[in-house]
Amino acid sequence: KVQTVVQRQGDVRDFYTFDKQLGKGNFGIVHLVYDKKTNEKCACKSISKRKLVTSEDVEDVRREIQIMNHLAGHKNIVGIRGTFEDKNFIHIIMELCSGGELFDRIAEAGHFSERRAAEVMRTIVSVVNHCHTMNVVHRDLKPENFLLTERGPGGIIKATDFGLSRFFKEGSSLDEIVGSPFYVAPEVLKRAYGKEADIWSCGIILYILLCGWPPFHGDSTQAIFKSILSAPLDLKSEPWPRISPDAKDCVRRMLARDPRKRLTAEQVLNHHWMRENGAAPDEAF
Ligand code: ADP
Ligand code: MG
Repeated sequence: KVQTVVQRQGDVRDFYTFDKQLGKGNFGIVHLVYDKKTNEKCACKSISKRKLVTSEDVEDVRREIQIMNHLAGHKNIVGIRGTFEDKNFIHIIMELCSGGELFDRIAEAGHFSERRAAEVMRTIVSVVNHCHTMNVVHRDLKPENFLLTERGPGGIIKATDFGLSRFFKEGSSLDEIVGSPFYVAPEVLKRAYGKEADIWSCGIILYILLCGWPPFHGDSTQAIFKSILSAPLDLKSEPWPRISPDAKDCVRRMLARDPRKRLTAEQVLNHHWMRENGAAPDEAF
């Protein structure tokens, strides 16, 4: 039996008109919806209660909503507008990002210029810095979970999908193996990790932004994990000879296998490659 997860009981369709499907993840189906009062476009993530089998699953959704509210206000985090619950679904109404996933923009371009990569990374790491300052670890950072508000140069990057995020206490340690294979930090696989694991995932994203493919790969999840734990970081093959030593230095420091030696979010933002290529620091939100 699923207990109450959200405040607002009642039919989401009394307030929003459902339009086309925008995306789909492990838990949710996301639709374009129109606010009936203002005609404003929003996104609605509907999580089927049938998928919420255990009380932990229910707790996860409750936490996702709580964390979205906790982090709200940052201009690079998808805003939450409200939540509804009916017989079959929990609905999360969010700000709409109609520019698609960062993942698709990378796939389209192959890879990014150093300047563009640094700009994107500055945004991503400032989100991570905000999460860490607010005592949240994201745990699922990957290009699929960064959306753009619109296509074209005016598009702003926004982080989404806090479904695997957790509150953490400084000095405490998490032990669940979660995330997406390519982006998982080595210490996560060893079941003792903290917020440094998010920086590793950002390092993987940066590597992909610069060259177009992930540094640690394999034919199976097990093979990917083996590579993450022990394969050397390749910064020599094409196109790396054409990439600046400063960019490589930043990647190397974000992908330090020892989390104690890895850069923190703040240190990444202050790395000279990021400072020089990532343009002016983001203004306060
Ligand atoms: P899951 O937890 O199931 O992975 P996500 O929150 O990642 O669900 O959403 C799944 C997909 O739906 C995203 O990858 C994206 O393509 C799309 N999506 C999610 N939120 C929005 C949004 N606010 N605006 C537009 N599309 C979205
Ligand atoms: Mg997702």
